[in-house]
Amino acid sequence: MVTAPPTSSGDLVVARPEGLYCPPGDFYIDPWRPVDRAVITHAHSDHARVGHGHYLAHTDSEGTLRTRLGEITLQTLPYGESIVQNGVRISLHPAGHVLGSAQVRLEHGGRVWVASGDYKTEPDGTCTPFEPVPCDTFITESTFGLPIYRWPTQAALFAEINDWWRANAEQGRASVLLCYAFGKAQRILHGVDPAIGPIVVHGAVEPLNAVYRAAGVALPPTVRVTDPGVDAALLRRALVLAPPSAQGTPWMRRFGNYSDAFASGWMQLRGTRRRRGVDRGFVMSDHADWPGLQQAIAGTGAERVFVTHGSVAVLVRWLTENGLEAQGFKTEYGDEDTEPVAPAP
Ligand SMILES: [Zn+2]
Ligand SMILES: [Zn+2]
Repeated sequence: MVTAPPTSSGDLVVARPEGLYCPPGDFYIDPWRPVDRAVITHAHSDHARVGHGHYLAHTDSEGTLRTRLGEITLQTLPYGESIVQNGVRISLHPAGHVLGSAQVRLEHGGRVWVASGDYKTEPDGTCTPFEPVPCDTFITESTFGLPIYRWPTQAALFAEINDWWRANAEQGRASVLLCYAFGKAQRILHGVDPAIGPIVVHGAVEPLNAVYRAAGVALPPTVRVTDPGVDAALLRRALVLAPPSAQGTPWMRRFGNYSDAFASGWMQLRGTRRRRGVDRGFVMSDHADWPGLQQAIAGTGAERVFVTHGSVAVLVRWLTENGLEAQGFKTEYGDEDTEPVAPAP
């Protein structure tokens, strides 16, 4: 039944059909099939799925996990504290990806492995910044693992978004910014200049804003289109945050002659912007860019690296050429930037 590829004996994490498995600890990390014990790196839907017996995640993931998965048996851990499961010491460390995102550190028999989940190296103010965790073996993502991906700084990015919003507001038209509802939307809220105008959010975004605010993240006031006082005059000056799935729906008609934009790392590619059919594309990602991946991997001091998703072959080749032992892990993680967004519960 088990079709795991051959791995060195004694590995702390192996690929199984259900997900990444820790044999001595008898638990999985971000499994995609139902298992008894799951350690969850973060609440994006390709990493946190329904149906597991027990969940372990960072304290700040509780709100998003319960919002998305409903009733689950959940144990939480703050960053840096550890528990021992069947002799394996487990601790969670900041991944800088979204609120509550964690790298999972495993220690057993003198060996240390770190599974990163998704991560971003530049701090953004809405979650605890990424910290390199020293280890022998590092499991990394590679969503944007190509040399073409280099993100603008936060300051440059938000100057661009603010300029676009301000110019639209001066011309009396709404600025509709399509972005993933969990993580991206809250980063935009945290980073824009709320003095430019009112901020309207789609129904899929607001429950996640509430979770961020409850965790102490400063977000400017937001309104829903159905709130009292939200009229055509207000909408003409507004920044509107909506998930990509709202594009082309009747919900958008109320904004009249609006300008639209899309915020995603994929916007670095002109073709993606054209396919999306929007006026503007802002290059913004919750994942590490190419220099960020290299910096993160080097920061761990790991001699062995497994690559889970994205440009696996490219990153494995680059690591091998640079003297590391590297190989791919076959996983079912996707990319939340392009997946359809579930409606708010
Ligand atoms: Zn993610
Ligand atoms: Zn992912």
